[in-house]
Amino acid sequence: MTIGEHEKTWRPQTRLVRGGLQRSAFEETAEAIYTTSGFVYDTAEASEAAFKNETKRFIYSRYGNPTVEMFQDRLCLLEGAEACRATASGMGAVFTSLASILNAGDRVVGSRALFGSCQYILTEILPSFGVQTIIIDGTDKKQWERALSIPTKVVFLETPSNPGLEVIDLPMVCNLAHNAGALVVVDNVLATPVLQRPLELGADVVVYSATKHIDGQGRVMGGAILSTNDFMEEMSPFYRHTGPSLSPFNAWVLLKGLETLELRVKRHCQNAATISEFLCSRSDISRVLYPGLPSHPQNKLAIKQMSGFGSVVSLDLNGKKQNAFTFMNALKLIDISNNLGDSKSIVTHPATTTHQRISEADRAVLGITDGFVRISVGLEDIDDLKEDIEQALDEVS
Ligand SMILES: *Cc1c(COP(=O)(O)O)cnc(C)c1O
Repeated sequence: MTIGEHEKTWRPQTRLVRGGLQRSAFEETAEAIYTTSGFVYDTAEASEAAFKNETKRFIYSRYGNPTVEMFQDRLCLLEGAEACRATASGMGAVFTSLASILNAGDRVVGSRALFGSCQYILTEILPSFGVQTIIIDGTDKKQWERALSIPTKVVFLETPSNPGLEVIDLPMVCNLAHNAGALVVVDNVLATPVLQRPLELGADVVVYSATKHIDGQGRVMGGAILSTNDFMEEMSPFYRHTGPSLSPFNAWVLLKGLETLELRVKRHCQNAATISEFLCSRSDISRVLYPGLPSHPQNKLAIKQMSGFGSVVSLDLNGKKQNAFTFMNALKLIDISNNLGDSKSIVTHPATTTHQRISEADRAVLGITDGFVRISVGLEDIDDLKEDIEQALDEVS
């Protein structure tokens, strides 16, 4: 970490464009891509000192690379975190942050509205290593109080959640968790660091899929873990020896993604808000979900802890799979895919894709019916998006 004090005086947009930049002796304009696995030493003594951690320098790209460090530093500056470790995917970030601090016998409390693979880690992988996991309704304070009346090592949650868009009260959960001795790990993928900074609201660790808005242009996979220096020190041996690290090329793409993140996220929010209001005006949709809508169950909370409501809008076409499929197949502009936070608008049917492994009963609890459709609203002209959605809805009715 080589963040200068002057960089901390910059406002967010300047941090996004210039934060963490380290120029080489060539004084290049843009961030350089250091595609190297290792680094050389002048002397055998220097290599010995490096491995004893007596000198701070790059040793091997599995645990440190200049391009990756620039990405980590830029994200740290944006998030207001002391330390960051980049990973090859969002799931690499989730698993590394949890597995590095949990031991057999530890207890984890998670909210039920989680990304499919996060749910799999909590309910299948961690228990197979002897970790006890309790899953609760993250919007219900009483369930948090009950679950956290017993000493707990980690609380894991996602807010807003994908694709149900549940919003969880971060200061409330962090308070209860800290009283139970637990660290709070927040999956902040849907909000992005532009709209919500969980560390400032009491969380201990934030994880990202950088594949989503941080790249935001469908090019590379990536992830990141942000926290305190103490947490990163505890996590470091696991990260170093298990190899979830990000490639220098992908780090470079993500650095370029960060430069336009704020601009893109603001436009995503504008477009998504307009689409959500447009959907509400239709009488043939049984449910429209967007945290910015007054009808959203946690709208007041979303206004309190977020500065915008994100790119994802979900709708329910009367619970019927045939309606959802007719709508999706009739779209001419919006792609059927499963990414989100991309510049291109994308439509997804969670019940048959991202959440197909979850039982129908559990999906029902999350509101993910067979008619449930998720739209990741992109950066196209809003009138083209509206027209496309309108003509596709007309095919359903
Ligand atoms: C996509 C996603 C992940 C996983 O990220 P990958 O980069 O696909 O590994 C985790 N959490 C949420 C909320 C996501 O949307």
